[in-house]
Amino acid sequence: MPVDWVVVGLDNGGTTNNGTILDSGGRFLLDRLAEVPSDVREGPDKAIQSLVVSVEKVLGLTGVPIAAVRAVGLDTPGPASGDGVISSKGATNFGHAGWRGFDIRGALADRLGLPVIYNNDGNSAALYAHHVRFGAESGHRSSVAAIVGTGLGGGIIQAGQVVRGAAGMAGELGHVPIPLDGLLDAGQAMPACNCGQSGDAESVASLTGIQNNLLPYWLTKYQGHELSDLPIGAAAKLVRKYAENGDEMALAIFRQQAMALGRLFTIAANFLDPDAYFLGGGVVEAASHFRDWFFAEVRAHTILREEQARASEISLVPDLDMAGARGSAYAARDWFIGPGQQVKPAALLSLGLSPGRRDDHHHGEASRLIALVVVPMRAAGREAGALASADRMTLARHRQRQRARLDPDHLAGGRRVRVTAERLAGHHLPAPQLDRPRRVGGADDRPGAAGGTAPQHA
Ligand SMILES: [Zn+2]
Repeated sequence: MPVDWVVVGLDNGGTTNNGTILDSGGRFLLDRLAEVPSDVREGPDKAIQSLVVSVEKVLGLTGVPIAAVRAVGLDTPGPASGDGVISSKGATNFGHAGWRGFDIRGALADRLGLPVIYNNDGNSAALYAHHVRFGAESGHRSSVAAIVGTGLGGGIIQAGQVVRGAAGMAGELGHVPIPLDGLLDAGQAMPACNCGQSGDAESVASLTGIQNNLLPYWLTKYQGHELSDLPIGAAAKLVRKYAENGDEMALAIFRQQAMALGRLFTIAANFLDPDAYFLGGGVVEAASHFRDWFFAEVRAHTILREEQARASEISLVPDLDMAGARGSAYAARDWFIGPGQQVKPAALLSLGLSPGRRDDHHHGEASRLIALVVVPMRAAGREAGALASADRMTLARHRQRQRARLDPDHLAGGRRVRVTAERLAGHHLPAPQLDRPRRVGGADDRPGAAGGTAPQHA
């Protein structure tokens, strides 16, 4: 098969590694997952070797030579740092003492001699859902994914990129506290989470939440229920089956979970206002009548403003068993080809700013921040001559040409401004050109023209 380059995606789990391969044209060359035992319980040495075997298996199945591989995407369950160092306190899936503080990403990169891009499994699944839904538009869209399993995982994607946070802990949706009034029954104990908090989303919307919090309570309300004869762990795993069969107690449990997820999405709506809210987990694979009921309950408890409801959607995460490996492959591909034309409207307002200056050179790292451009703006509806705000943008480097765009909603009056600058030599940037829509009229709001010279707004 003629390929110019590929990336490999690996999903590392407690028992199995899943692998896939994505080519330069954005096509997956395997339509099913390549599975090998993960050997995680045997400790890091064996497990890294198993990840290497996964790469070999994927290449063997497709006949792609290793020389064509540009990067490998890897995900594991957490907790781990943003670049793949397993928690020094240990982690459920990484019980072997050798895993504590182990750099799984770095170790695999060393063994393969290839760049390895790491995400936790929730972030990988979120990235996959985002790409499946938005395709070529991925780089311009945002989404939040909540995936209900043993815990409540997920992630946040902004402009096609995983939001990692300063410590790699962004998007831990499960540990966001949610309002519980009207969710808990009168007399129901405050649900506790393994993270030490009470009343966060995972304490309700996860298998662990069913086992530790919801089922023990509801069994006291339904005395003599069949599930009370079983050990609580085994009983918790059966609750979904009972719900599919219409069991009243099981439905009460899932109603509380749906409410928790809706409230979590409501927080996301106010915090992030994403294009899409994705819901995934075991419930997606449940019998369709139950899945549809659950999904409708989640929607019913997701409070969006009318404008948000029009602009966004709530949908199910598809192909969950492939999501980790395929999301990892997308992460590797995005890393390799770079953000491209992607816009990064980051504002650095903590630095000194002198409105009215033509521009403001910043001698940042050559490959990253090159310049800060000050764009004095006059808002629609303001008094004549008033300077509404000065917006500062970073220009992301893209070869010699750099472009940044302010989102129209970012500016008072909803005006669209494009700033284009071309890098000539060294750190020098010429004055930016502003492209303005015609309706601005004769307003002279170029940089440097601020401060009383702007004529009245039409
Ligand atoms: Zn928690």
